[in-house]
Amino acid sequence: PEWKKLMKISRLSETDETLFSGHHVRPELSFVVPAFNEESNIAETIRRINQEARKLVGSFEIIIVDDGSSDQTFQKSKDAGADMPLRLLRLSRNFGKEQAIMAGLEASKGMAVVILDADLQEPLCHLRVMLQHRAEGYDVVYAVRAHRNDETVLKRLLTRIFYKLLNLGSDADIPADARDFRLMDRKVVQELCNLPERNRFMKGLYGWVGFRSKAVPIELEPRNAGKSSFGLGGLLKHGLTGMTSLPSWPLRIWTLIGLGIAALSIIYGFWVVIKTMIFGVDVPGWSTLAVAVLFLGGIQLISIGVLGEYLARVFTEVKGLPGFIVAETHPRMQVQR
Ligand code: UDP
Ligand code: MG
Repeated sequence: PEWKKLMKISRLSETDETLFSGHHVRPELSFVVPAFNEESNIAETIRRINQEARKLVGSFEIIIVDDGSSDQTFQKSKDAGADMPLRLLRLSRNFGKEQAIMAGLEASKGMAVVILDADLQEPLCHLRVMLQHRAEGYDVVYAVRAHRNDETVLKRLLTRIFYKLLNLGSDADIPADARDFRLMDRKVVQELCNLPERNRFMKGLYGWVGFRSKAVPIELEPRNAGKSSFGLGGLLKHGLTGMTSLPSWPLRIWTLIGLGIAALSIIYGFWVVIKTMIFGVDVPGWSTLAVAVLFLGGIQLISIGVLGEYLARVFTEVKGLPGFIVAETHPRMQVQR
């Protein structure tokens, strides 16, 4: 039957289900909240989700994924949700937001799933509209930032360029400014969980799995408390993962550049021969040579770097390490690998 097929998708919910065997109740909505050092936010986040969800749906669950926090995030969540449909996962270390989201998705049981940041930047008032779009038949409803006025010009420019490059020559469209804040139907979540990839770039994968999608513009609130974990270094690393996760043009482009340079040097070679025959041996020319050598050296280093980047990804995938490790759950669920 259908629910059995659905159950297969998630190792966590499967065992969880057998634990409470008998009734396989799927809540209407699951909230997946990745949290890394959010002790000052998490209680308020849980409270607000609970309050908002009660108005919108008959049944729901809140899944907090503590991504290896070094503060009291896990304990604070436990305390906050004593009388709420709350499930907690604690990862064994900080695996990064993407993996925390995946852990939450795998554990989720709802007919639809909402991914939400723990810092209350995304106003929950948009949930109603998202659910309306879902009722109209959209499988994915995702939030996009209405503007980026709060960010520095440099960051905005870099993001623009990044998304332009990311989408170059790829057939899955990755909308710029899309957030992780989104509502997804169970079947979309199932496809995401089934993907074999470990080193994930979620924004690319959301687009890659497809389905009928609808964007909802939102205004981001400032962070409730604490500070963002994504500085320039973090974003750069994130960007490189993204760049090498989907598009293959960074690999292919070097063939073209190589061909172009080879063609130019042949023409230049002919020109040098003809020039020598007409004007005799030309002693100056040292600078041309130096420039050519340096230029080619640079190009070669870049292309080797690109190869290395891809190779590193292939290497981590081949090792087949799991994307994350669950250290503790609450209430206790059996985690099966
Ligand atoms: N987060 C996480 N693991 C990390 C970094 C961040 O689970 O390694 C969570 C964090 O707790 C928050 C969300 O991801 O719920 C977004 O992080 P943050 O607010 O720092 O990023 P920003 O909003 O500045 O993009
Ligand atoms: Mg934030």
